[in-house]
Amino acid sequence: MTSATSMYNAKPVFADSNKEFEQWSLQSRLPQLRYMVFFTALLYLLYGYFETLIDLPYANQRLLFHVVIIPLSLLLIYRLSFYPQYFKQMRLLLVFAPVSAVWANLYLNVGSSSFSHFSPEIYLNIIWTFTMSGLTFRYALFAVCCSLSGTLVMSYLHGPNDPKLYLHYLWILSACVFGVVSSIVLERMMRSLYLQQLELAHSASVDGLTGLWNREKLLQLFNQTLNEASSKAGYSILMLDIDHFKPVNDQFGHIVGDKVLVQFSQLLKQQVHKLGHVGRFGGEEFCILLPHYTLHQAEQFAEHLRIKISETEFETVGVKTASIGVCQYAPNESFETLITRADKALYMAKDQGRNRVQSLN
Ligand code: GH3
Ligand code: MG
Ligand code: MG
Repeated sequence: MTSATSMYNAKPVFADSNKEFEQWSLQSRLPQLRYMVFFTALLYLLYGYFETLIDLPYANQRLLFHVVIIPLSLLLIYRLSFYPQYFKQMRLLLVFAPVSAVWANLYLNVGSSSFSHFSPEIYLNIIWTFTMSGLTFRYALFAVCCSLSGTLVMSYLHGPNDPKLYLHYLWILSACVFGVVSSIVLERMMRSLYLQQLELAHSASVDGLTGLWNREKLLQLFNQTLNEASSKAGYSILMLDIDHFKPVNDQFGHIVGDKVLVQFSQLLKQQVHKLGHVGRFGGEEFCILLPHYTLHQAEQFAEHLRIKISETEFETVGVKTASIGVCQYAPNESFETLITRADKALYMAKDQGRNRVQSLN
């Protein structure tokens, strides 16, 4: 059994879902990405213009790649970045735009004496992919590996004995090292920010003592589940209040009182499990949302719960009971009105002698 003291110190554990992290990471780097693709598109237009000033082979293809295809791909990435439903396509473009730029570079320049003037594009491209593209490390690594495999093979094939290639390989290696280190460090920072944000969101949604959802989160879950269950036959809620709880504090002290609340909450959590959601409404009052239960089914579940509670031996204090109010959601009713009706049912149960279930139409 979990003691109250260990509950005070309980830290939430989060499943570190990689897919969700990647989505969040991309989302939070969108402003940087938008500036960078815009600036890079301008850079390529300038690149294409400078190339027209020099007498170079493949002049038309250069114009096509540097003034049309690459700037247009970058502007398309810019446009897609405003539509989350197209993020998959945007990521695909972010991976393949740099690869196609490198392969175009190789096609246009390998074998020519001025290859060394054009190879800085490859080095910059590697760093850009790792640090500016907004891609997480594994996607960036995949893109760079595609670019590099072509670069290394083509460079070697066209100058196997050229010592100038050593310099070329050195700059490629440097670009990779700078890129990999920056990308890994950036990703670790992003991951830690992501986990902090998840923890903050979690602690803003749960009750500190019991770990159950708090009132605000219950309202959010109610709205969420109401939409999901709109076509179903019923949606009911339960309001529970522990009977004669004040004497527990008076007789045994608040710490023991807290332990009873924790144990009571665990019991509710176990019993409700996947049927709905449990929250602490305040003090020794709890609320259970049952999105797929009609009033009759909710009454039966409440009765089962009442018996379970009355059969449980609570640490130090022994047997405790609870009164339960049950209510079914009426179309277009607000959460507040529904809670008020369930509260009314609960106080009717109290008035009738406690340790009982009372429902209200
Ligand atoms: P009833 O059967 O009518 O519900 O009687 P009760 O004694 O349970 O109700 P009452 O509203 O008089 O008392 C509720 C008590 O719950 C009073 C308060 O001290 C205690 N309480 C509320 N929150 C906490 C908490 O977080 N920890 C502890 N230990 N006690 C709490
Ligand atoms: Mg009470
Ligand atoms: Mg109360």
